[in-house]
Order: sequence, then C-alpha cells, then structure tokens
Amino acid sequence: MPPRKQVRKNNVFGRAPRREDAKIAILFLLFHKTIAKLADSFVRLATEFFRLDSADEAERQPDFIEIHSHAMPIHYRRHGRARNYVLRLHANKTVVVTVPRQGTKKFARQFVTSRKSWLEKQWRILEARKLPPQDLRPGMEILLHGRAVVLEVHPRGAAWELRAGPERTLLPNPDGNLRPALERHLRAAAKAFLVQRAQELAGRHRSVIRRVVIRNQKSRWGSCSCQGTISLNWRLIQLPEQVRDYIIIHELMHLRQLNHSPQFWAEVAEACPGYRAAEEWLKLNSGQVGF
Ligand SMILES: [Zn+2]
Repeated sequence: MPPRKQVRKNNVFGRAPRREDAKIAILFLLFHKTIAKLADSFVRLATEFFRLDSADEAERQPDFIEIHSHAMPIHYRRHGRARNYVLRLHANKTVVVTVPRQGTKKFARQFVTSRKSWLEKQWRILEARKLPPQDLRPGMEILLHGRAVVLEVHPRGAAWELRAGPERTLLPNPDGNLRPALERHLRAAAKAFLVQRAQELAGRHRSVIRRVVIRNQKSRWGSCSCQGTISLNWRLIQLPEQVRDYIIIHELMHLRQLNHSPQFWAEVAEACPGYRAAEEWLKLNSGQVGF
C-alpha cells in the first residue's frame, strides 16, 4: 500500500478526509472556543460577585448618607454590563449605586458623596410629590416672571375677576380655591409667551426648532428630542427672565449636543454666560415655583 494512502486513512475519521469533515472540524473548534469563552466569563463574573460580597466585614456594614438630616441606606449593585457608576434615589428613600464591572466600592462611595446635592434635590422632588398642592386664596402671593404678585379678586359685571400682577381671568365665584382657574389661565398665557420666546432665542443663537410643546411636568423644566422638538414647562413663566432664558438656551444647545458633555457646557457658556447664576437660583428656589 503506498504510504501516502496510509497517512490519509490515519485521520480522526478513520477514512479519507472529505470537505464535510473539514467543516465539522471547524464547527467543533468554534463550539469548543465558545464554550471556553462562556466558562471564562462565568468564572470572571462569579469572582467579581464574590469579591464584592465577600469583602471584609467593614465593607459589608450597612452604609448611609445623610440627606436633609435623614440617614439613607446606600445599596451597592455590581453590574457586569454597566460602563459607568449610576446613582438612583428610589421612592422608598434608598440610594442605589450601580458599580461597573471594573469599578470599586471605594470609588462608588466617593461618587455618592460627590453627588450629595443632586440627591438632596431628588429628595425635595419626592417630598413635593407627596404633598397635595396648596389651595390658593385672595391675598396669597405667587411668583410670576420672578416677582411675587398678590392674588386679588374683584367684582366684574355679574362675575368676578382674578388678578395676578398683569394677568387677568374671569371667575364664576369669588370663594374657594383659586388654583384651578389660575393654573388654567397661566398655562394658556405661558403657551403664547414661551413659544414666541423660544423662537426668538433660537433665531439669536442660530438654532432651528421644529416644534415647541408646553407641558405640565412636576420635576423637569424642559427637554429636547433629537427630532428638534423642545418641550417646556409652563411654570417657566414664573421664573426670573434670565433663569427662564437659560433653561430655553440649555434645551436649544441640546439640539447640537444631545448630552451633558464638556462640549455641551462650552456651548451653553458661550450662548448664556450667566448660566451658573441661573443654575444656582434654580437650586435654591425651585421649591417656590409650583406656587
Ligand atoms: Zn440638559
């Protein structure tokens, strides 16, 4: 028998190799590699899991952060697919921080501490949501265009007129809570005013808005969609002019950068040099708005 034929018979299939055999061998190798990869990532995940959980006793002690004189527990969640540290304040008043695969608990704790003012703001929003909106009566003050204005009710013909600074609206009767009629009126006034102001500012800052929507949101002043729609909270008409314009400009700059990257903030600073003072005002006074 020629030696060459002998060699061909000595392969794993015990016969002459065929094209199919090569395919099977490649598939087998691929399968083998996939299994090895899976096992490898499983081992890595398990190691990381236990590294977080079997940390020394000190690390496993419950950890708290003080927000508005309340000790809030911090929960650390390691997430294999997370790329960044992510912080959340849950409605049950616990802080949850997601730790990326390569992250450390020490850094996660520093991250939580560095975001304390953000947590305080979220806390105030949660608290505000729990309270029913306060009833409004004649003689009470609301904020309008950054100024406190007194609510007044005057007879007008057979009906009554509610006055808030330059704003006027008719009331069927002078008694009871003025809030529903006032909010209805201010929302309509805000729509006309804010749509025009947004278009003016867009023109000034060479931006193109496709649509401006006026909303009634509880916890945000504005938002921007990648389709060029800007949503604004009607309560913006309560804010001082510079603060209101800053929020509109902030959303306009999101038409260029749909993120909060350093480039985004550079655009904001150029278009609105006083934006830090506006941010500061919002931090201190947001609670006043919403009446
Ligand atoms: Zn933004």
